[in-house]
Amino acid sequence: MNIHEYQAKVVLREFGVPVARGIAVFNVGDAVNAAEELGGPVWVVKAQIHAGGRGKGGGVKVVKSLDDVRKEAERMLGMTLVTHQTGPHGRVVRRLYIEEGSAIERELYLSALVDRSSSRVAFIASTEGGMDIEAVAKDTPEKIKTFTVDPACGYSPYVGLEIATALNLHGDQAKQCGTLIKTLYEAFVAKDMSLLEINPLVVTKDGRVLCLDAKINFDDNALFRHKDVQALRDPDEEDPMEREAAKYELSYVKLDGSIGCMVNGAGLAMATMDIIKLYGEEPANFLDVGGGASKEKVTAAFKIILSDPNVKGILVNIFGGIMRCDIIAEGIIAAAHEAKLAVPLVVRLEGTNVEQGKRILAGSGLPIVSASDLADAAQKIVAAVQAH
Ligand code: ADP
Ligand code: MG
Repeated sequence: MNIHEYQAKVVLREFGVPVARGIAVFNVGDAVNAAEELGGPVWVVKAQIHAGGRGKGGGVKVVKSLDDVRKEAERMLGMTLVTHQTGPHGRVVRRLYIEEGSAIERELYLSALVDRSSSRVAFIASTEGGMDIEAVAKDTPEKIKTFTVDPACGYSPYVGLEIATALNLHGDQAKQCGTLIKTLYEAFVAKDMSLLEINPLVVTKDGRVLCLDAKINFDDNALFRHKDVQALRDPDEEDPMEREAAKYELSYVKLDGSIGCMVNGAGLAMATMDIIKLYGEEPANFLDVGGGASKEKVTAAFKIILSDPNVKGILVNIFGGIMRCDIIAEGIIAAAHEAKLAVPLVVRLEGTNVEQGKRILAGSGLPIVSASDLADAAQKIVAAVQAH
């Protein structure tokens, strides 16, 4: 789960991480009031969307008068902000963060993530902050340094010192850096984060080490034990279909292709998407209905798939292991009726009571095409969509 920059800064501030003062607002009047309260003389008006690269897209402006705070707030609120992370459709700006402006001496890069290869929390540091870190990684990879924390010992001052050295911070700034790494590590572990990115981490003209941007991803599997984090969810930033799917405990990810997929098991869902591509079409979604797919779940899945206007056909690929194929077949028929299915539907069933399941589908009177195996199913749905 993602949160906004201003929310991330609230989370970090609780742990004592140095962040600039700021106030989140939803309208122009409050933006000006917030700026007055912060006092100036320099403010930064920052669009809050779940994507980075806002600066380049016009979503971060440094201003020096209340008048300009108002102008920028008027311009940004309601605008569709397109950045290299939003995709071409961009995101509508509904919230702003009015922040105290900092006099920046240097911009650095710092992040922490769960590094699967070392099974540790890793810090990534670079002197090339403020810009697109992917570009730094590609063009000058030697400028990116990685440090891991041994979970048995936790943070040790040695790691802090190493990172400070990599960031070219010395003396008091190295000390500030050490404390920062320690608190970031504590926050990362305590809140079950999967990614924490500070870009830029800055050194101000008066020598302070300060976090000017913050992005946090939380581990969805640990959200149940963080009610406070769950409360930070912003439904406007989530795909409405993905939200609907979550209600029925369906794992759904919208994609850009034309073939809707309904599959049980993540591995089978991945294989189904692969084979659709192999035969020349693109999947419209990833959808795992899970092990015990009930009629209600199957119906909800059909409705979600059909609410995507790009869907030109549906491929159902279900292995009846815990579930029996005859029950799945009945669920599919009921769901097809209820969801008013009007696109080609290919069904491949395998497993317990498969013959009975196929007989039920064939006798339904619905134009359902049965398939014998994965390749057959993919070829049939691709042909049906292309003929349509
Ligand atoms: P994004 O990464 O989405 O572009 P940032 O928060 O990193 O957004 O802001 C982009 C740039 O704007 C920063 O690299 C920094 O130069 C500048 N900036 C951001 N916040 C402040 C601030 N409080 N004071 C001064 N400059 C800032
Ligand atoms: Mg940034």
